[in-house]
Amino acid sequence: MNLALYRRYRPASFSELIGQEHVTGPLSRSLETQTVHHAFLFSGPRGCGKTSSARILARSLNCAKGPTPNPCGECQSCVDLTPNGAGSVDVIEIDAATHGKVDNARELRESAAFVPVNSRFKIYIIDEAHELSTDAQNALLKLVEEPPAHLKFVFATTQPEKIPSTIKSRTHHYPFRLVSLDVLSAHLAEVSKKESIPYEPAALTLISTAAEGSVRDSLSLLSQLASGMPKEGLTVEFVSAQLGLTPSHLIEETFSSLSTGDGASLFKTVDAVISAGIEPRRFAIDLLGALRDAILFNTGVKSVDSNQLSTIDAAVLSNLTNKLPASVVTAMANAVATGVAELRGAVAPRLQLELLAAKLLMLAEPNPPAKSNAPAAAPAKTTTAPTQPKTDSPKTAAPTTDAPKTPTPAKPTKPAALDLATVRAHWRPRNQQNPQHSI
Ligand SMILES: [Zn+2]
Repeated sequence: MNLALYRRYRPASFSELIGQEHVTGPLSRSLETQTVHHAFLFSGPRGCGKTSSARILARSLNCAKGPTPNPCGECQSCVDLTPNGAGSVDVIEIDAATHGKVDNARELRESAAFVPVNSRFKIYIIDEAHELSTDAQNALLKLVEEPPAHLKFVFATTQPEKIPSTIKSRTHHYPFRLVSLDVLSAHLAEVSKKESIPYEPAALTLISTAAEGSVRDSLSLLSQLASGMPKEGLTVEFVSAQLGLTPSHLIEETFSSLSTGDGASLFKTVDAVISAGIEPRRFAIDLLGALRDAILFNTGVKSVDSNQLSTIDAAVLSNLTNKLPASVVTAMANAVATGVAELRGAVAPRLQLELLAAKLLMLAEPNPPAKSNAPAAAPAKTTTAPTQPKTDSPKTAAPTTDAPKTPTPAKPTKPAALDLATVRAHWRPRNQQNPQHSI
């Protein structure tokens, strides 16, 4: 099958455009009441339907039976302006990134004066409008201020703040949004059914998540994955692997280690993550998502699984929240969120991930040692740190300055208990990594 899905499923009318009802609603009504403005500014992130909407608007305006929000699809203009159609001489698309110079704008101004060849309106769609040079903007301004009756403008941009107020104030501004996960997943399900692509619903959620709200990106991904899918279709396992996501069993193992406070198995899982070639930051992001699902699950949000927000087994989610108090799970999520930020461009990501695991274990500790009691026991234990000759990283405070306030690291628990200082102290010999990590 030919799989340029994002081209095949380009919307041809506002009713087919998904996730932008706050824009398509008012535009459809203005078409119905014949009160369409002469200039528009469509802004928003890439891939969410700005240019498609501009084309639909042109099609709606120029339909022989229009202007109408439901173009007939049969007249010459509608046929010319179908998505992937031949196009119309009266609907002119300009990419300001390559044609944003003043000469182009002057040419545009001159040609705009002529009436449309065989349509009701002459419509200019100016993509990447923020790339117009200042001279070009000035050349266009007059036209946008006092346009002839046959002229319409649609400026599309990802950076509306760069559009000068002189132009902006003459347009009707419609901000487009990223499409929500649910809407995107439902759309992918519909397309998959039409294309006879077998799928697991959760796999489509993964694709929607990866597309970050962009319809075009989601369909491109669907095309790519479907062209190489196994005969079972788009399974969670296949899609996770293709997108480089953490397989859910690794998240489940992490949860199980945390709920039992089993450090050895947690570090084994971290090792498995690295061995599987999963990017540590990716793992942290996926773990954060799973913790978030656990928190929601714990508050009784039953839609977690029905909305397929998580591919983690519900029993695993509830097991974690049953064993650990909500405050601990929330603290873990916070720690992981910080870890995700720290892992961005980290020099030693593995080490960072292991540190994060150590922090989570500390949070998971079922009976955290009391800080105030047993001051007598403290001095005996703390002597190890200051006298130790092979002091660890330069980050650990110098022994001399540390001496007066030794009671703080006091840890009157079993020697096996794990804290950051212990982890750092044992770091170098095992890993031979530079513990200096970047931002
Ligand atoms: Zn028509």
